[in-house]
Amino acid sequence: MKTKEETHTLIEKDQKHLWHALYKDIDGANPIIATSGEGSWFTDIDGNRYFDGVSGLWCLNLGHGRKEIADAAAAQMMKLSYSPLTISHEPAIELAAKISELLGGGEYKTFFSNSGSEANETAFKIARQYHAQNGNPGKYKFISRYRAYHGNTLGALSATAQANRRHRYDPPAPGFLHVHPPYRYRSPFGDTPEADIIAANMLEEMIVWEGADSVAGVIMEPFISGGGVIIPSDGYLQRVAEICEKYDVLLIMDEVVSGYGRTGKMFGFMHYEGVQPDIITMAKGLTSGYLPLGATAVKAEIYESFKGSGHNNQFRHVSTYGGHPASCAVALKNIEIIERENIVAKVDYQSNEILSELRTLVDHANVGDVRGVGFLYGIELVEDKVTKVPSSDAFVGSIIAACKQKGVIIGKNGDTIPGFSNVLIIAPPLSSTEDDLTFLVDTVKAAFGM
Ligand code: PLP
Repeated sequence: MKTKEETHTLIEKDQKHLWHALYKDIDGANPIIATSGEGSWFTDIDGNRYFDGVSGLWCLNLGHGRKEIADAAAAQMMKLSYSPLTISHEPAIELAAKISELLGGGEYKTFFSNSGSEANETAFKIARQYHAQNGNPGKYKFISRYRAYHGNTLGALSATAQANRRHRYDPPAPGFLHVHPPYRYRSPFGDTPEADIIAANMLEEMIVWEGADSVAGVIMEPFISGGGVIIPSDGYLQRVAEICEKYDVLLIMDEVVSGYGRTGKMFGFMHYEGVQPDIITMAKGLTSGYLPLGATAVKAEIYESFKGSGHNNQFRHVSTYGGHPASCAVALKNIEIIERENIVAKVDYQSNEILSELRTLVDHANVGDVRGVGFLYGIELVEDKVTKVPSSDAFVGSIIAACKQKGVIIGKNGDTIPGFSNVLIIAPPLSSTEDDLTFLVDTVKAAFGM
């Protein structure tokens, strides 16, 4: 461990030179400085250990310290340290083929990038170019849902329908529209599955009112994650897919959070029978956070229009590091471990008990709703269960602080929608042990005095 003086020097340097994400720079407030990790836990510079109840930024799915993954990266770096995807390399070929196999429902062709934001940007460009090359150059608009986050770059941020995240970065790029989410707890149409179908029908209405010949795609997560863990009823996504097909609108599924087992299926859309998205974007769990990688998988039929020697038929898009050989090697090893350790089935099995434990919290006066799927949970806090007025930042913060004090990091939908930073978010590493998960649940309950 570092001496007090060394720690002090590091904090000073941090405050002087390092710009943190989503961080209010308030005098005297220091971020946690993480120094090492083991499984689902990490240790800070003062020697405090924390259970990471949000998997870093929902990505550390297999936990810290998987030597096999580190070895795969090192071996690849020694064998072929870099190669652009203007030519090809083995790990990218194998990974693209594996992604196609995992997605089911026919062949997919994958374009690699470095992050979830880039994977979504790539999807938007592919969708517009596809329509243009298919005789529909007027189709350029994208529809997403209020409360959804799709990334930090200006296109992905324009699809992000969270006013606070866009504050001072607006105006958004033209052509991005937003529609009601399937948010039963606060739906004006009631807390019933039919309310979610009405939300889907509102999407159809928007497409018709905008003119279907101007709409290129709909982008959505199967479950809104960072916007407050919003879980649609069965039937919602099927209805959305039906609407997209009817109006020749591409269904872009953002699986950046929900992919690779987070929801108890390999991909979140697989919870909805019969749905096979046109484009699927992924990042985070693709490498379990060990190295950066984004991917945009496109149905082979869509790729058809990018073939041939026609003028400008090719996708005019390149990323220096997208599909880096080491990142692809890490992703392949990550997927091998997910399959070998039956991680997806384990999450599916363990999630029921965790969710039923967390649901006991609704007995607390300030817990309005508890939602979840797989290892993704949201606890919506309210001042009053009848009016559903959101809890104050101070109350939400006090629960997070109580968990942290007992050694558990949990999150919230912070700074997304004005006045609604009131959903606690829990998303533990998928490989967490039974003991880890019991500790997590017990700590969260204790924070509510239960
Ligand atoms: N899409 C979703 C649903 C996300 O939650 C995120 C990030 O949290 C992104 C896209 C953007 O991913 P990245 O931070 O890797 O750019």
